[in-house]
Amino acid sequence: MDYALARNKMIDTQLVPRGITDLRVLEVMSRLPRHKFVDEALHGQAYDDNPLPIGLGQTISQPYIVALMTQELKPKPEDIILEIGTGSGYQTAILADLCEHVYSIERLPELKIRARRILDELKLFNVSLQTGDGTLGWPEHAPYDAIIVTAASPRVQDALVEQLAVGGRLVIPVGDRGVQRLKRYIRTPNGLDEDDFGGCRFVALIGQEGWEG
Ligand code: SAH
Repeated sequence: MDYALARNKMIDTQLVPRGITDLRVLEVMSRLPRHKFVDEALHGQAYDDNPLPIGLGQTISQPYIVALMTQELKPKPEDIILEIGTGSGYQTAILADLCEHVYSIERLPELKIRARRILDELKLFNVSLQTGDGTLGWPEHAPYDAIIVTAASPRVQDALVEQLAVGGRLVIPVGDRGVQRLKRYIRTPNGLDEDDFGGCRFVALIGQEGWEG
């Protein structure tokens, strides 16, 4: 299979027609080997227009959703990012490529170990991974320029807002366990500005300030 060709097709048929215009996002997604983040048996489907299983009941998000979340996070080269829900590590890799440093928390140790191996293989060393409950954030490295939550959340966690810099962006799917709205909050000196990017479906965010497991 010609993966470079599959990536270009993904860009031209799934991302650009749906409004992904950020050239840095399109460039990194045309280059990063998404197939390496899924099981070998799924390599041929890695650039299809849907999520894929990554084991333990979790999924790697659909390419369009990854692109949309990245674009609306407005990542800058000097940014320090916090990600909740490392999963496969594909979104982590994109942000590591675009930003200064990514701190990423994953609840399931097996997934964290696997993500570390792939990120190392791709020489993305500006990533710190931790196993734990991301609903509490990672206060030691706050404030963050941007925070991305890649699992379905019942609410916007106070801890995450507190760990966001003023002017910082928080992208998070908020709703019930079945269906959510993709939201972006921008921290202002007086509160939060809110944008809505439509309906979405994520696996559950499980933790103290999330859902029960
Ligand atoms: N961005 C990832 C998404 C993986 S699915 C990708 O595209 O591969 C969401 C991930 O969030 C799962 O791996 C799940 O285990 C993790 N997760 C769920 N609740 C969490 C929590 N409280 N803290 C950290 N990770 C969590």
